[in-house]
Amino acid sequence: MIQFDIITIFPWAFESYFSQSIIKAAQKKGLIKIKIHDLRDFTFDKHKTVDDKPYGGGAGMILKVEPIFRAINFIIKKNPKIKDNERKIILLSPRGKEFTQLYAKKLSKLKQIILICGHYEGIDERVKKFVDRELSIGKYILTGGELPAMVVVDAVTRLVPGVIKKESLKEETFSKTLSYLEYPQYTRPEVFDPQKVTKGKKSLAKRFQGLKPQRVPKILLSGHHQKIQEWRKKHSKV
Ligand code: SAM
Repeated sequence: MIQFDIITIFPWAFESYFSQSIIKAAQKKGLIKIKIHDLRDFTFDKHKTVDDKPYGGGAGMILKVEPIFRAINFIIKKNPKIKDNERKIILLSPRGKEFTQLYAKKLSKLKQIILICGHYEGIDERVKKFVDRELSIGKYILTGGELPAMVVVDAVTRLVPGVIKKESLKEETFSKTLSYLEYPQYTRPEVFDPQKVTKGKKSLAKRFQGLKPQRVPKILLSGHHQKIQEWRKKHSKV
């Protein structure tokens, strides 16, 4: 079982995603636990201040170091049975190391993952002193670390044994190496004719008018297991 602890100033942002589909089922089965911590609960002033202006001037607000430190400290103390080498403290940041399937796999072996979501202009640099890794989900800037935290929870959860079928993970993209791409997949119908679906050319948007009927590769309909495997091998990218 993995426990995710997410530190955020927007605790309600996670509700809808985490209460759907595979993530919902994984929680129900007790394979993962997700705890959301409102950073404002770790402040002591009347206004529950979590941010302040940057030293040296400049645009935006910076999340303060003390509430974040208090939150991490609280989470660790609340889970005395989890050893330090069974947990990672991760700061979500566009300046961090890029998140990959390989790292998701490593994380899926842990007992606890603490995710710190920045917002506004960023986070006080001193937070880096007490995290294990600064992690980026890609080379673009988001408003906050909430979406990146959801991305990490999602990618790690599907790798936890029992969450999804083993076979689904075996051949999927990035499962062998980070350059491996899975073979193409199809489902019914055998022939997809855009004109038939839209009931004639007239109702087809201009950009789809040249689209011809598309067939599922014959070999996939043959029922010949070995040949299908060969086709799939040929059409996956290593
Ligand atoms: N001023 C910061 C900079 O230039 O590096 C960007 C701050 S960003 C607007 C606010 C927060 O969103 C960050 O502290 C981080 O937690 C999160 N964030 C934004 N983009 C991200 C990314 N690509 N990966 C991970 N976290 C990201």
